[in-house]
Amino acid sequence: MYDVIISGAGPAGSKCAEVLAKSGFKVALIEKDTSWRKPCGGGVSSRVFKYYPQLRKLDLMPITGITIYSGDYHKLEYSWKEVAEPSLTVDRLEFDNFIRDIAIDAGAKLFDKNLSFDFIYKNNHKIGVKTKSPNGTKEYFGKIIVIADGMSSKLVNLSGLRNKWKIDEIGLCKCTIMEGKNLLDKSAISLFFRRYKGYGWIFPLDETHFNIGCGTWLEANIENNLNQVYNEFIHDPNLKKFFPNKNYKEIWRGSYPIPALGVKEKSLFKDNIMIIGDAAGFVSPISGEGIHTCIVSGKAAGDTAIRALENDNISNQTLRFYKSYPNIKKIIRNFKMKVSIVDFFYENNGLNLNNMFHLAETDDNIRDVVVNMFLFNQAPTRDFLSKLKSMK
Ligand SMILES: Cc1cc2nc3c(=O)[nH]c(=O)nc-3n(C[C@H](O)[C@H](O)[C@H](O)COP(=O)(O)OP(=O)(O)OC[C@H]3O[C@@H](n4cnc5c(N)ncnc54)[C@H](O)[C@@H]3O)c2cc1C
Repeated sequence: MYDVIISGAGPAGSKCAEVLAKSGFKVALIEKDTSWRKPCGGGVSSRVFKYYPQLRKLDLMPITGITIYSGDYHKLEYSWKEVAEPSLTVDRLEFDNFIRDIAIDAGAKLFDKNLSFDFIYKNNHKIGVKTKSPNGTKEYFGKIIVIADGMSSKLVNLSGLRNKWKIDEIGLCKCTIMEGKNLLDKSAISLFFRRYKGYGWIFPLDETHFNIGCGTWLEANIENNLNQVYNEFIHDPNLKKFFPNKNYKEIWRGSYPIPALGVKEKSLFKDNIMIIGDAAGFVSPISGEGIHTCIVSGKAAGDTAIRALENDNISNQTLRFYKSYPNIKKIIRNFKMKVSIVDFFYENNGLNLNNMFHLAETDDNIRDVVVNMFLFNQAPTRDFLSKLKSMK
């Protein structure tokens, strides 16, 4: 019998497990496969250091700038070298195992090669999780169940909290880790908005490795073929300047869905269950950045579970604290703002985005608005949006 069972030991689940174990609670952290590399760009903002100061000791790629291109290749560069700690690019296999180990060191018990596929019921209450393991079906019993097993979660669908994602509610992404000499600025990441809803990225991983990928968003998933879009992106003549060699070696490749419409607010918790991370939609609707926000959701759910267990009340009433946690409210607000401007930006094959980047090249005030919007979550004013729309 565990205090808390967490299905999924990605960034969200591992943080939740660590928080609980540190406070002395018995935690079962269930993971389908610790040797799985989550398909991901691996770009992590410096905000992550608040949750994982241990990362400062690792020899990771420090990122101090970003270049963002519109679909017609107007470009905006921004550097935070002088003002803030560097962000990072990480290999998700190493990163996930590093933070998993932190949870294990704190006292959480990891059950690897366990695929959770159903709840255990007693008198209509969910009292545990069933898994498939190499040794057959296993059962884990717990007072609180936290679902942290990402986009493919079976438990979310069975929980009654929300329906399966629809194809036009998500993003579809494909990425590759490549090896080869390149002319990328090793201190900066690059994002490339496209004419369809979606974007591509190139993130340097070290001197000779980089992560390259792209994705389609929402209804663009139906109108486009991901493989075709990906091939067009990696062979885009505008990227040639970075890659002078003829051959680059593919080290690894993966495709995966991503939530694209923000947090499913009404389905965050019920009875003795909480949903965190990607499974709950904690991914920024325009940038696709989810590692930091999913970690925040893990911390909030961990703190909520502690409160519930200490008060011996694991009902909706106590779990409500998860949704009202200040950082969770902030994330939900920010994501709503982003969802509200996605359609506007991509109108007429990304014309408003093109206009915005065009103006930002010569007008410092516009540039500040764009930087504040993409990097510091500030909403653009109505006047600003009207100005873009009035441009031809
Ligand atoms: C292609 C792509 C690129 C991305 N790039 C970035 C980026 O550059 N920066 C960024 O911040 N975010 C990025 N994201 C988003 C980011 O990857 C996610 O938001 C983040 O990984 C979510 O963390 P999580 O812990 O909620 O879920 P996951 O990272 O998906 O972890 C879920 C865990 O649960 C396990 N699991 C799954 N099913 C089961 C099961 N049935 N039983 C037991 N265990 C299970 C998995 O093995 C995994 O370990 C990207 C996403 C994609 C798809």
